[in-house]
Amino acid sequence: MTQPTANIGVVGLAVMGSNLARNLASREGNTVAVYNRSYEKTETLLTEHPEAGFVATQDYAEFAAALQKPRTAIIMVQAGRGTDAVIDALTEVFEPGDIIVDGGNALFTDTIRREKAVRETGINFVGAGISGGEEGALLGPSIMPGGSAEAWVTLKPILESIAAVAEGEPCVTHIGTDGAGHFVKMIHNGIEYADMQLIAEGYDLLRRVGGLDPAEIADIFAEWNTGELESYLIEITAEVLRQVDAETGKPLVDVILDQAGAKGTGAWTVKSALDLGVPVSGIAEAVFARSLSSKPAQRTASSGMPAGAEEWQVTDRDSFIEDVRRALFASKIVAYSQGFDAIVAGAEEFGWSIEKGDIAKIWRAGCIIRARFLNRITEAYAEQPDLVALLTAPYFADAVGGALPSWRRVVAGAALAGIPTPAFASSLSYYDGLRADRLPAALIQGQRDFFGAHTYKRVDKDGTFHTLWSGDRTEVSAADAH
Ligand code: NAP
Repeated sequence: MTQPTANIGVVGLAVMGSNLARNLASREGNTVAVYNRSYEKTETLLTEHPEAGFVATQDYAEFAAALQKPRTAIIMVQAGRGTDAVIDALTEVFEPGDIIVDGGNALFTDTIRREKAVRETGINFVGAGISGGEEGALLGPSIMPGGSAEAWVTLKPILESIAAVAEGEPCVTHIGTDGAGHFVKMIHNGIEYADMQLIAEGYDLLRRVGGLDPAEIADIFAEWNTGELESYLIEITAEVLRQVDAETGKPLVDVILDQAGAKGTGAWTVKSALDLGVPVSGIAEAVFARSLSSKPAQRTASSGMPAGAEEWQVTDRDSFIEDVRRALFASKIVAYSQGFDAIVAGAEEFGWSIEKGDIAKIWRAGCIIRARFLNRITEAYAEQPDLVALLTAPYFADAVGGALPSWRRVVAGAALAGIPTPAFASSLSYYDGLRADRLPAALIQGQRDFFGAHTYKRVDKDGTFHTLWSGDRTEVSAADAH
């Protein structure tokens, strides 16, 4: 009979689960029970890491018996059906008060559904977004748990012990109830898509317009990584650009097929934002740019089409590089601002009480979008908790304002030169749209009223109105229109 010697368990021992289990085992006071559907992975983990003192189990009943009460298990299995199968199995062997944490990349609406179903059994279900990839799982990820406040009390010390640490603070906080954690993780990934696309556009301009080679651009990114752009993604970009292919001697970036893949979290972000009516245009462009890159037949069919472009003559290379840097920083601020808008809208829609400043804090280390300027986001929300747009906080407004001439030169220059910069350009358009005193939306309302009697409001008096377009074109109050 298995003794309940473990205080925490992990189900799913592929790359993420085994690294997370090792991370847990390395922390003082933890004994970790492990289970994987096929026993081979469990055996491999035990053989390779005897120091971890894992309690290996061969079925769910044995796994449950190995855990002290209240039992706490983190699931790290294939998202979707795999997760559902494990939850079903665990609810059979767990008891009320026990906690099941799904650390996989679940869609937040699935988490809401699962939390509701599991809660009926008296077992706590917590959807926790975990960012940082394999290395993060092992050394300290950024963790975004949802679920009940009651479950958080038990989970807090465990998750704090394995999370990344930024300026002495663990990168984990209770995000909100049910699916809040996976929602915020999804937005994190959406911002990641935008960040990567912006960096790629910056690289493309430096290469094609600036005439710099990958190694030179690597040096520029390394230099940028010492300033306000300092971030993990900028840092690894320099590393990727410096890499030389052993077989051909060419820069690795030149031998990698230019078709970007995606696992779907960017698309989830955009779909959710569409449902919430939040313009996450930078993130959407980043997702679509990957889709466009992965359409070889369409690209081949279109490759001979005319460019109608003008050559972009760079007279001062340093100023050009600085223009690109500023355009990148301003566009990045837009991407984060849009991401936080989506978080605010999601919190409102799903009834989550989310501390925006705390989210920026837990993204400072461990996760893929970790960056120096996240501190500025925390500060902005601390100063103005009801800030309506991150972009308008003094630090960001100044940064974007200062970047404007550069940003416009880069977007306009790229358009004239025929170089695609969807994320730079859409971010600038978004900024111009937000700050516009008047938008052509007035004309759209007129069109809608024309063909669908959708009515409109006026700038000069209260009420809702309709023009009798197919009649004498007089205006009537909407109350009288039908
Ligand atoms: P994975 O390839 O997504 O999944 C493989 C694991 O799932 C194996 O342990 C497999 O067991 C198990 N599994 C699949 N279907 C199952 C079922 N019906 N019942 C029981 N177990 C089942 O593993 P991963 O790459 O380590 O990722 C784990 C989770 O973390 C996923 O949700 C993934 O999306 C997420 N993830 C996150 C990050 C990140 O940066 N946060 C990175 C990668 C992945 P067998 O060995 O028996 O097949």
